[in-house]
Amino acid sequence: MEHSYEALRLILDSITEHIVVIDEAGRIQYANRSWSEFGSRNECSLGTGWEGVNYIDECDKAAAMGDDFGAQAKAGILSVINRETPAFYFEYPCHSPDEKRWFMMRVTALDMESKAYFVISHQNITERKLAEEEVRSIARLDGLTDIPNRRTLDEFLHNEWRRCARLQKPISLAIVDLDHFKLLNDIYGHQSGDDCLVRIGRLLKGFASRPSDLCARYGGEEFALVWGGTSREQAEPLSNRLLDEIFALNINNSHSPIGKYLTASIGLAVMVPQKGQTEIELIRRADSMLYRAKESGRNRVNCE
Ligand code: GH3
Ligand code: MG
Ligand code: MG
Repeated sequence: MEHSYEALRLILDSITEHIVVIDEAGRIQYANRSWSEFGSRNECSLGTGWEGVNYIDECDKAAAMGDDFGAQAKAGILSVINRETPAFYFEYPCHSPDEKRWFMMRVTALDMESKAYFVISHQNITERKLAEEEVRSIARLDGLTDIPNRRTLDEFLHNEWRRCARLQKPISLAIVDLDHFKLLNDIYGHQSGDDCLVRIGRLLKGFASRPSDLCARYGGEEFALVWGGTSREQAEPLSNRLLDEIFALNINNSHSPIGKYLTASIGLAVMVPQKGQTEIELIRRADSMLYRAKESGRNRVNCE
């Protein structure tokens, strides 16, 4: 380590983080090897050469092309240059056509030989981001059926209710309960019951295709469908079609008093949200409609 400048250069070039040093005006003064190599492969970066390049201008160019992260990066760099903050951290996506990637940008001040410089590093944090995405998606889905779980349903319904309240549009909620499912479990075993729930979940996905729709496992052998901006005239035939398609799966439930194939009952509620009401009222109504559907013989849609 005697030849310290050369040693430091080698060390910086061996680091996988992409590092540039800029002056107060944003002009690049130094770039390590990772930076240069990445630049030549990466559409989100500055390209190969860095001499004479002004980093802040590049952020401006990215922002002008509609890249919101360009504007955020510039604001962060300026806040460090203006000494408003000692450091700036910023995570941003930088996906290539064939892979998802995220980076963390870090900006810190470096005072050297009575001049102010700023070190900007970019670290690939894709692995961590993918792991976080995975955890988030696992927490939102039901483990058996792989459709949204109750928690996701509650959140979605809350937001969709408010959206429909603002627009004064109807919102429909169908609660679907499989008929005599306990008998199916008792006769064919719990594993068959599970397989059947998976098939129902798959079917429900086809009934929730718009951004304002959601299907979810409500719990046990109960499912729910939210159809935002959907009137009773649209929701009722949709619910009836769902019953038909469940029946058409021909899932054996030989001891069911209704017939030899599995059926379901649906409680459907449709409301245009009014002041002072919440989505709890919609759930309450759908629940009571479901109760009536069961009471009046099952295998039907009941709508108030
Ligand atoms: P009803 O027509 O009145 O709805 O009758 P049901 O038998 O469907 O309703 P009940 O509430 O009596 O029983 C629900 C059954 O659903 C009992 C329970 O074992 C079964 N169940 C709930 N969750 C699961 C699950 O995750 N897997 C399996 N295999 N069965 C489940
Ligand atoms: Mg039930
Ligand atoms: Mg049931």
